[in-house]
Amino acid sequence: MEKGLISVDQWTQGSQAYFLTHLHSDHTKGLTSSWTRGPLFCSRLTAKLFPLKFPGLNLSLLRVLDIGSWHSISLMSPSSGEKTVVQVMAIDAHHCPGSIMLLFRGEFGCLLYTGDFRWETDGERAKTARNTLLKALKEDAVDIIYLDNTYCNPSYDFPSREVAAQQVADIIASHPNDDIIIGIDTLGKEELLVHISRLLNIKIWVWPERLQTMHLLGFHDIFTTKTSLTRVRAVPRYSFSIDTLERLNTMRPTIGIMPSGLPWLVKPFKGKDKLFGSLLTPYNRSQKGANGGMQTDKRNDNLGSADRFHKYIYSVPYSDHSCFMEIQEFVKLVQPVKVRGIVSSSSCYVDPLYYFGRLCGANQPSRGLHNSEESKSLSKRVIAVQTNCYARSGNSTEAGRKRGRTPKVDFLGVNVSKANTLRRIRRGAKIAQSE
Ligand SMILES: [Zn+2]
Repeated sequence: MEKGLISVDQWTQGSQAYFLTHLHSDHTKGLTSSWTRGPLFCSRLTAKLFPLKFPGLNLSLLRVLDIGSWHSISLMSPSSGEKTVVQVMAIDAHHCPGSIMLLFRGEFGCLLYTGDFRWETDGERAKTARNTLLKALKEDAVDIIYLDNTYCNPSYDFPSREVAAQQVADIIASHPNDDIIIGIDTLGKEELLVHISRLLNIKIWVWPERLQTMHLLGFHDIFTTKTSLTRVRAVPRYSFSIDTLERLNTMRPTIGIMPSGLPWLVKPFKGKDKLFGSLLTPYNRSQKGANGGMQTDKRNDNLGSADRFHKYIYSVPYSDHSCFMEIQEFVKLVQPVKVRGIVSSSSCYVDPLYYFGRLCGANQPSRGLHNSEESKSLSKRVIAVQTNCYARSGNSTEAGRKRGRTPKVDFLGVNVSKANTLRRIRRGAKIAQSE
């Protein structure tokens, strides 16, 4: 495919058609209410949510992709002026409301862009997802997967969202006299909140804009903006911090729950005098107890792998991204010729080729990692990379924006966004990096 035909989650390059996988801000960087570059393809639910996120956007630009159907788009080859047809199918990405994977076919071959995705392997939904994907692929061999490699490391191992949601409910039930705050984003984790609400028969507080989103998503009775009606509040992730929890506890006993695939521990931020009281560092769950200063307290077996890493805060492995095993299953199923990660940052990027090159349909550049010594060395670097990440809340989003260069992949003329540090900031992390 020639350059300048299509862009995926990328909004500043000149293309003839633009595709959005979902409305998280690390995928809409460069998209504004006044954006008019061309037709914008997205899922029906994303189109419905667009006016909330981008009020004033010319909605006539939106083109809805119905999930599971092929759409043909006629484009023009910039070099020859000849007509060329791109076929695209949206596939449910099971990440957040409206999120889709995109399967492209054309003269360039067959490309699968996962966007952010959760590929759970158990349960009815997983079975449906698997069948849908296999049906979509049929005889097609995927030349390249652009893969959500957020947790592309074997140390990232967490349960299904159903199991993790139960852990959250158990924590809340085990603190009957406490207020509860749960850190969430502007979109996503709705199923978790609904599960809590139904199981414990309580309403859940959300902030006013989030209530609008909930209503658009069809949740009319579960959520409220009245604090007097409930002890459980879902708050913006940026306002979730140790500092906040400590202040809240001066007024009422309050427990914080952070649902994330990334576990956390408390660690001071080197070189800074001013601490926000919420400087968090991801760590490998399997290494629990090995880190000095860590306050993990797995004191209740009923809570499964939920960690109480601070006296007021639990971290629960509820993730809208695939864990390593799930990514591996996905690559095995698709058997692409090549695989490229879409999550990139200078300090935390893990090339999925390192783990999945052997699963691909053709030889890929090994980058010298088959040598055992080099492999060991990379493993160490991977761990180092993880421990070099740190997080804090508060002004992290703003800081991330200032830093924010979004790396891009340009392969065969397809501009696709590599979600950068904003992803991790949204996830609650703040990445230590120089760019
Ligand atoms: Zn996302």
